[in-house]
Amino acid sequence: MPPPSPGRAAFLGLGAIGRPMAAHLAKVFDLAVWNRTRERAEQFAARVTARVAGSPREAVLGAEVVLTCLPTSAEVETLLGGPDGILAGLGSGALFLDCTSADPAGAQRLAARLAEADIAYADCPVSGGTNGAEAGTLTVMVGADPGTFARARPVLACFGKRIEHLGAVGSGSALKAVNNALLAANILTFAEGFAGLARAGVPVRRALEVLNTSSGRSFVTEGLVPDRVLTGDYPNTFRLALLEKDVRIALSFLDAQGIPAPVLHRVGALLAEARKELGEEADYLEAIRLQERRTGIEIRG
Ligand code: NDP
Repeated sequence: MPPPSPGRAAFLGLGAIGRPMAAHLAKVFDLAVWNRTRERAEQFAARVTARVAGSPREAVLGAEVVLTCLPTSAEVETLLGGPDGILAGLGSGALFLDCTSADPAGAQRLAARLAEADIAYADCPVSGGTNGAEAGTLTVMVGADPGTFARARPVLACFGKRIEHLGAVGSGSALKAVNNALLAANILTFAEGFAGLARAGVPVRRALEVLNTSSGRSFVTEGLVPDRVLTGDYPNTFRLALLEKDVRIALSFLDAQGIPAPVLHRVGALLAEARKELGEEADYLEAIRLQERRTGIEIRG
């Protein structure tokens, strides 16, 4: 007997993290891809089995599941409408999984709009970076009703290792924003603390090794600093502009909950300043290099 034919899926947004996620989906689904800059979609389809669509509508035609991974909810919302938009092509009963690091209110607006067309929605932001996406080991934070989560889970398992249902639509995005606000705080505080240690002549790599068996350690000190900061090798994997956006989302979420957040407000202001100075394409760890430039101290070892 021939193997069962794969279901049809569409992936929109082949950015730094979207590309490796879509590549995993292409192994399981008959995949159509769409990207605003078509050239990037063509480069993708040159190495991965996928059809390049000329519009969001064309990409989603006949798809059972659609995944988006764009900068914010606003870009996803824009792609829904119009004659070439997603809603013009997507049939009722489909599943819409938004892997954008979105804002909870935006996710709820999207869910409501899609529900009118009988399309199930889940916000499914991811964590684990481009390395995690390539390895298929992302953590996926899902906000959805239980039935939608059950349908989403096997799709998300194509690129996710830990796939967690946090509650109703918006809850995945809320956790992701708080996660990234903590990440940002760790980056900025690392830069301050280690600039001081380096200036005092404490051997930086040994200090980091000790810290990483002590209580001040974090993903930043364990996972990012050894390979990227101490070596001076700063690859571009995640734009600082997107991290700054995530902190802003966390702050408005906390504000909506009535939670004062003076520390995270300061983190947000510092990141906004760094974004202005470094531009839209700078990597998020460039915030550490900025601190190095300002103090005249390089954190290397
Ligand atoms: P990139 O900046 O690398 O890519 C952004 C993608 O969105 C590109 O495909 C871009 O198209 C597309 N895009 C931008 N603006 C528009 C628009 N107005 N209309 C249509 N498409 C648009 O971002 P990432 O892939 O890094 O991030 C995507 C999402 O995933 C973000 O929400 C980010 O916060 C999140 N994320 C990223 C991680 C990472 O490590 N990079 C980790 C976890 C989450 P084009 O090619 O034309 O520019």
